[in-house]
Amino acid sequence: MSLQAWVAIADELAYILAGALFTIGIIRLGRVKSARSGNTLATWGMALAIAATVTWLLVFKRWTAESVMWALASGGLGSGLGWWMAARVPMTAMPEFVAFFNGLGGLASMLVGMAEIPKLAQATRGMFASRLTLARFGGADFAIADSLAIVVGAVTFSGSMIAYAKLAGKLHKNRFGVLGSLPVNAGLGLLCVLFAVWGGFIAHDPASLFLSNWGLTALALVLGVGLTMPIGGADMPVAIALLNSYSGIAGMTTGFILQNNLLIVGGSLVGASGIILTQVMCKAMNRSLTNVLIGGLQADTGGKKDEGYTKVKSTSAEEVAPLLDAASSVIIVPGYGLAVAQAQHKVRELATLLEKKGVLVRYAIHPVAGRMPGHMNILLAEADVPFEQLLELDRINDDFKNTDVVLILGANDVCNPAATNDPASPIAGMPVLKVWEARTVVVVKRSLAAGYAGIRNELFQLDNSLMLLADAKKALEDLVSELKAL
Ligand code: NDP
Repeated sequence: MSLQAWVAIADELAYILAGALFTIGIIRLGRVKSARSGNTLATWGMALAIAATVTWLLVFKRWTAESVMWALASGGLGSGLGWWMAARVPMTAMPEFVAFFNGLGGLASMLVGMAEIPKLAQATRGMFASRLTLARFGGADFAIADSLAIVVGAVTFSGSMIAYAKLAGKLHKNRFGVLGSLPVNAGLGLLCVLFAVWGGFIAHDPASLFLSNWGLTALALVLGVGLTMPIGGADMPVAIALLNSYSGIAGMTTGFILQNNLLIVGGSLVGASGIILTQVMCKAMNRSLTNVLIGGLQADTGGKKDEGYTKVKSTSAEEVAPLLDAASSVIIVPGYGLAVAQAQHKVRELATLLEKKGVLVRYAIHPVAGRMPGHMNILLAEADVPFEQLLELDRINDDFKNTDVVLILGANDVCNPAATNDPASPIAGMPVLKVWEARTVVVVKRSLAAGYAGIRNELFQLDNSLMLLADAKKALEDLVSELKAL
């Protein structure tokens, strides 16, 4: 057998192994305990995939050492930048970071889709003149895959950049003029289809291909902005999961264009897992996907100030410590503010102290508490809080009524009773933690400002609620020292 045949077999085997590593990696990412090893496995899968692809390019595309050097240098630069950015990003900024990276995936697919057409046009210059269309030369599947890579890639790119800007609080608008309205989005979608048909099946000379190529890309970029603009900030996590899925679909279509099986497998994995995550998050927020996409739930990432509460009872660590000391069961509700305050270690210290005093301590984890799925699990895992003490909403919601004290640490929307008793509320129907059923509720936050959804929270002035207005870390430090002194 020739060297080329051996390389072809080795490459396919490497791709199968890389695909298996991706799949096992994703499965292991589903559990906190195995997530780290899942990430490592998938990283090795990617390293193997890159090595196999470079080998293939060297042997079959006869890449020169210079080309390989360029590829490795740009890959190294990208990896280095990714590493540097990931190491620096705070946990609380993770959603916008993910949105940004999703966008780059879409951009890569869009560029591959755009680059393939002129390459083909150049290679077949004479044939186009004799009225051979892209579909007839590259195949209808090629023409369709290429248009899809451009459209889905461009929508993912521009949409993700808008999501990034919204989440980072750099963009508060919901429309740019008529852009973002349903009829305009529908019109843009239709134009994309027309340009794709023209570019793939009708254009028969390099000039019209050039026009259709760039026209399709420009339209799809505008469509991405129009599709993401109307989505409210509080729905952005769902939008990011969906855009993540789009980036996988775009990657998969480039796999068809480049005839790379691993890209098809990897893209499909991302596409499918993104859609599943979208569904899970829609369920957690009790929103239909259509409802999310059309827009509605507005976030005020700037944070509204005091909403005119009149019956709020303020408290202090000195008053709360004896309540905790006398309790037989305490449920801690962590939220975004706990992550901001970086008080995970302090909360663990408080819990340990209470447990030593014979108090049953558990944590209620809402699926969208914080700013990304699993945010609270990761935060508390950093402080080695035992997994078995972290109870998901479904498992703990019926226990609040038998609980002495609920300690809410920087959470707001996830325990807003308006979701259950105010049909007009923007979060009506979203499953929330029924903290108000406990004997006493202590809310720790710095002010009476609203949470991410930007809405009022009646919990603050219920009869059994006490407001401990302070930074979560400072409040926990004070509670620990007060408890030690008792
Ligand atoms: P919220 O955003 O509703 O509330 C957080 C509260 O923390 C604020 O009201 C703020 O009040 C308080 N806070 C901020 N900093 C501190 C601090 N240093 N010490 C004490 N308190 C602080 O958070 P939740 O976790 O309850 O809800 C999550 C929200 O984010 C939901 O609306 C969800 O839809 C959305 N979301 C979720 C994502 C996810 O995937 N998990 C991603 C993106 C958004 P104050 O300023 O008065 O201190």
